[in-house]
Amino acid sequence: MKKNNLIGFIKFIIKSLLSIILFPIKLLIGISVKLLKRLKFSIAFKISASYIFLYIIVILIVALTTSVGYFVYGINKFKKEVMDEDLIKIQRLFPEYKEIKTMVDNDTVKSIYIYDENLDIIYSSDKDKRYSNNIIVVLENLLYREEYVYSSTFLANNLEYYVNINYSAADILSETKHLSLLTLISGAIGLLIFVPIVSGTSYRLIGPIKNMTEITKTITVNNINTRLDVKGTQDELKELSQMFNEMMDRIEEGYKSQQQFVSDASHELRTPIAVIKGYVNMLDRWGKNDKEILEESISAIKNETDNMQDLIEKLLFIARSDKQTLIFTKEDFKACEILFEIEKETGIIDSKHNFVYKFYDDVLLYADKNRIKQAVRIFLENAIKFTPQGGYIIITSYIEGDFYVISIADTGIGINKKDLNKIFDRLYRAEQSRGKEIGGHGLGLSIAKIIVLGHKGKIKVKSTVGKGSEFLIMLPYLEKLS
Ligand code: ADP
Repeated sequence: MKKNNLIGFIKFIIKSLLSIILFPIKLLIGISVKLLKRLKFSIAFKISASYIFLYIIVILIVALTTSVGYFVYGINKFKKEVMDEDLIKIQRLFPEYKEIKTMVDNDTVKSIYIYDENLDIIYSSDKDKRYSNNIIVVLENLLYREEYVYSSTFLANNLEYYVNINYSAADILSETKHLSLLTLISGAIGLLIFVPIVSGTSYRLIGPIKNMTEITKTITVNNINTRLDVKGTQDELKELSQMFNEMMDRIEEGYKSQQQFVSDASHELRTPIAVIKGYVNMLDRWGKNDKEILEESISAIKNETDNMQDLIEKLLFIARSDKQTLIFTKEDFKACEILFEIEKETGIIDSKHNFVYKFYDDVLLYADKNRIKQAVRIFLENAIKFTPQGGYIIITSYIEGDFYVISIADTGIGINKKDLNKIFDRLYRAEQSRGKEIGGHGLGLSIAKIIVLGHKGKIKVKSTVGKGSEFLIMLPYLEKLS
């Protein structure tokens, strides 16, 4: 019971000592972690600090393990060479205590204690002591008295005896200390070499990021064509720079086309305003009392305001589509319903062309009826606009796979190959159709495209200059009607 108490007490002492020793270290680590969190260090510094911290930990572990290893190895060697021999000698001399006492030389052997099988002391070379084979007692003796307590048993007269021999461990402890000191010194020298290398490498690795940040900071709409340098950077950073440059390419392209659109739209609006202004000035100067001028002016102003209204409505439609506020009010309806309506209306408006209508199939569409009608009208109006009088305009409809196709073919002027992929661009008009007499703002096909694609449909064009064009509107349908 008493022995247990002592062990508990020693454990408590060691624990308390350890917490007292470790307290300043814990405090330091705590403060450093908090400081590091608060301070804004560069990534390069953080990388270097982490590597240096790791290095120090490795060196400490190496110093500790080599010292402990060296000590254990030394004790084992000493046990084989001296302690086991001494035990045999004690067994041989037992119970000649005087002889045993001669073994104590205070240099290597400090004291010897022999106990009977009940662990009652029967011999002590100095003061009485309790038998011990406890590791804590061994450590305590090592730390405070620089003695190693060897414990073993031997047989004499058929009885078992216990023995404790206290050896001086001063030499092996000082060698161990020297070894750990040596390891720490070499570690510190290594650290002096390691610090500049690791910080240099981290700054070199992170350098491109700094460069990227500086360049990115300077990018505005005025120098939107600025790009990051991708030459000297590391792999992942190079990829990041390339991605960034590609993103900037897309933004620049969008920005430029938006700018172009605004400038083209302003230009389109400038002409009718100039015409209106011209007529108003003319009226102001001479036309108030001249009926002819008055009538001409009113008719021109009416024309131009209609023209402007049409343009503004188209621009607003495109803007709504860009802002994604364009709403299609979809419903079920028969495709031929709108085609017949268009046929009827066109017959009233235009009598200068030959129209052929052939609706081979009818289907049920789920779409915005008015918008689809608007899209078909755009193609039809273009066919009328770009086909000379007496030319043919053929409107057919049929099912092709998953789509209901509305074809508007004409025998008009046709479209150049180079213009074919541009005619759907906003405000684009092919050269041969730019004349004032033909009219148009180059927005019709953009609007038709928004409507058809907004219904998950497709548009196809075939055209030959001088022969004519064919536009195919392809819309997904619900079911075929008989
Ligand atoms: P616009 O108001 O000028 O007709 P669109 O966007 O509808 O604008 O058409 C763009 C351009 O495509 C036209 O200016 C014309 O050059 C060309 N285009 C469209 N449809 C036809 C067609 N059926 N025949 C010849 N050219 C056409």
